[in-house]
Amino acid sequence: MKYLPDIYKKNIFDVNYKKLKDKGIKCLIFDLDNTLTKIDSLEVDKKTLKLITNLKKDFIVLIVSNSPKKRVKIFLNKLNIDGYSFSLKPSIRTLKKIKEKYNLSSKSIAIIGDQFITDMGYGYKGKITKIFVDPIAIKDLKITNVNRFFENKIMSRYNKLNKFKKGKYYE
Ligand SMILES: [Mg+2]
Repeated sequence: MKYLPDIYKKNIFDVNYKKLKDKGIKCLIFDLDNTLTKIDSLEVDKKTLKLITNLKKDFIVLIVSNSPKKRVKIFLNKLNIDGYSFSLKPSIRTLKKIKEKYNLSSKSIAIIGDQFITDMGYGYKGKITKIFVDPIAIKDLKITNVNRFFENKIMSRYNKLNKFKKGKYYE
């Protein structure tokens, strides 16, 4: 069950970051689209800005997104954090760079995202903590719709095994 999240929460605000810190997590990798913001938004809402600002006191906070540089850069600037665009998740090429740059082990990194195939796939491949959140909005990118098709199949398989149910949050 490679896509099975370690933690599943409704959104980024419901994640118990204190617990993650106590567990030895030092770096939080956030997905951008439908995790931090809607796909068609160029704004960071106040609540998100406040959360990220606070998290930066305790963690290395990064964005790893498959979206183009032009879009990702806007959010990196607004949140004043480091990150990667065009990252081709579930490829973990960015994770290798992150581990080297910040001298981190897999054990001390968590990914937070709204997709099984890309985000949880990245977490599985990189052997890092996988945190799944519901997408902020229903609207997805076209490419994401393809992933969602497979995601739904995987989810129903996990559901039959009593491992995962949409909306049944756990940690
Ligand atoms: Mg996303």
